Amino acid sequence: MTSIRIGRLAGVEVSTDWSLLVLCALLVWTLESGIFPAQDPHLSHRTDVLMASVATVGFILGVLLHEVGHVLAARREGMRVDGIVLSFYGGYARFTSNFPDGPAEARVAFAGPLVSLLIGGIAVLVARAHVSEPVDAVASWLGYVNVSLGIFNLVPAVPLDGGRVLHGLIWRARGDEAAASRICAGIGRAFGYLLVTLGIALFMTQGVFSGVWVAFMGWFLLMGATSETQSEATKQALAGKRVGDLMTRSPVTVTPDVTIGRFVDEVADSQRHSTYPVVDGGRAVGLLPLQRALMVPRLHWDERTVRDCMVPRAEAPVVAESDAAVDALPAVAGNELGHALVLDGDTLVGIVSATDFARVLETRAGARQAPATR
Ligand SMILES: [Zn+2]
Repeated sequence: MTSIRIGRLAGVEVSTDWSLLVLCALLVWTLESGIFPAQDPHLSHRTDVLMASVATVGFILGVLLHEVGHVLAARREGMRVDGIVLSFYGGYARFTSNFPDGPAEARVAFAGPLVSLLIGGIAVLVARAHVSEPVDAVASWLGYVNVSLGIFNLVPAVPLDGGRVLHGLIWRARGDEAAASRICAGIGRAFGYLLVTLGIALFMTQGVFSGVWVAFMGWFLLMGATSETQSEATKQALAGKRVGDLMTRSPVTVTPDVTIGRFVDEVADSQRHSTYPVVDGGRAVGLLPLQRALMVPRLHWDERTVRDCMVPRAEAPVVAESDAAVDALPAVAGNELGHALVLDGDTLVGIVSATDFARVLETRAGARQAPATR
């Protein structure tokens, strides 16, 4: 889905997509037609709609601040953060570096729910101040929702924040990140099966529709546990490898002042790469995804240049040849471009893509399966 940039907050890009509008519409509708009229039946419909709108904006803001909590904590640990994404499924912060150690992971993971609980607490206090009925109702709903969000996220199952806190703590206690991942994946899976069973039982015996949601949550946790196992396998496969082992050396480059027309005719048509480093007088100045060049209407191909379309160096992911592959992976795969410039100072050494990493994983998986087929 196309992402829409909203702006910058706490120094990181905040983006969203259209699914957030669906969430907002659903929330406003649920609140103005059900929740608020049930609480204060004598308020006018206009007031209900206004309250529902304010509460929805407050809710989205709460989700955003939860993520800002993670981002600020990550920043304190010296981690790089690419941005915050808000969507129908909630929010998440995109980290482009790994957690330095267990305690850091626990602190970063805990910061989000802590913010939610704080916001919830403040909202409850506002509701208790009895300013006016509409204000009380909105504040108490926001209090309830944010406290629930904080508590729910602390459930110790990956990929929830509580699961990450637990992972960080076990990592610290065992001194072994891989062991922590195995244990946490196991706990996450147990929670997942428990919720699925509970949800189905609720639905079958009590006819409670919310049972479906409980089962769905369980399924979500099961997927999280699987991806935790996979990410651990990834780390093991990349162990000991450096960016230099994976990258493409001396890739096909383009210069910034070439027009899009010439770029397509002379380079893109014959080379068929998806992304090209842009080099100006020996200095790497950006990264040009073919897709961005092709988005320029044909009419303007002779006016627009590579410079107009490229992702400038400051915004492009950059890694060094000597970086450990495990550390470079988030920067490459966590970025929409799926590619990173490999630089030595300003000089281009190569280009590395998410596919280069995937290739290592596939070879590893193949090698591991081989003995079983003998
Ligand atoms: Zn969180």
